[in-house]
Amino acid sequence: MITVETLKGRFNETLEGMDAGDNDHRPGESVPPLPPDPRAERSSHTEPVIETSGLRMRYGGSADVLHGVDLRVHQGEVVALLGPNGAGKTTTIEILEGFRRRSAGEVRVLGVDPDDGDEAWRARLGIVLQSWRDHGKWRVGELLDHLGRFYLPYGTPRRARPYGTGELLDLVGLTDRASAVVGTLSGGQRRRLDVAIGLVGRPDLLFLDEPTVGFDPQARREFHELVLRLSDLEDTAILLTTHDLDEADRLADRIVILAGGRIVADGSAPELAARVSGKAEVRYSRDGEHHVESVEDATGHVRKLFAEYGEAIGDLEVRRVSLEDVYMTLVREFESGRRTEAPSELTEVAR
Ligand code: ADP
Repeated sequence: MITVETLKGRFNETLEGMDAGDNDHRPGESVPPLPPDPRAERSSHTEPVIETSGLRMRYGGSADVLHGVDLRVHQGEVVALLGPNGAGKTTTIEILEGFRRRSAGEVRVLGVDPDDGDEAWRARLGIVLQSWRDHGKWRVGELLDHLGRFYLPYGTPRRARPYGTGELLDLVGLTDRASAVVGTLSGGQRRRLDVAIGLVGRPDLLFLDEPTVGFDPQARREFHELVLRLSDLEDTAILLTTHDLDEADRLADRIVILAGGRIVADGSAPELAARVSGKAEVRYSRDGEHHVESVEDATGHVRKLFAEYGEAIGDLEVRRVSLEDVYMTLVREFESGRRTEAPSELTEVAR
């Protein structure tokens, strides 16, 4: 398992590489085309930012933990990757980030195989780790200035790199803490700094791993607004993992549910809700008695109730199936149909 420390180590190594002026990067290699996806036409005219096909992973001699994952994410899209512990979310993301080698399958991130990703490629990715505990003695603004300098060679006319520190502090709501020493920040401010560190290179693609753990409700709300702003104004593609289904519902254009190393659902929250149940729950009271009814046409049903009982109806509530219901249903469906996979031959990826 790659630990946060290892990731940080690699990140720092990358920064050191950039610092040394290693600007001699290879362009993205030409890749064989993958089969067309109808979603591509619907959601974007651009190439997918993430594209995996038949992605498989097996650790050492163990069984496969990813069994052919096909995933596409387009520019400006926010995708929530959900799934129970052990489903393979971290493994998938580490492969996409270039921190872990896959066993088989095709993977392109920003048009490049992550196993071949160079500094220029990495400069276009933003990674927000769950907890970043270094740099305690730096001042917030100075740290961001310092990290930002590594991204300078990778700016383009379309995308200036890095963010100006003032702009970035403003974006994450830390302007008034610019000269504070990192070690003195509150937990919520610390997390916002983590986000600023992930964003400093103005990434095209941002990975957020359970981004709001430990946030109070206000910090959480502000963070959600930030994510939506990034995808709307900066066209940043965002892949986030979270166990907070309200968060996924609020932020994600698309929900991808991974269970047992397979994608068991992929669609917008309403699409998935319709797949699980076309029904809504109508709750009301009549003559002091509470009623709960599950119906397909909630509006028609309510109309009938009023026509029949008029003012005797009170406490009316109509609830559609929540993302949590969808999630629980799909994961249970998967678990009840679970088979033991016979180990299969993997085609080693040519390197
Ligand atoms: P998630 O992030 O969804 O909780 P992971 O990707 O961490 O899932 O894990 C998926 C499966 O891979 C789990 O069964 C886990 O035990 C296994 N796994 C993860 N990392 C390693 C590793 N370094 N070596 C062996 N097995 C691992």
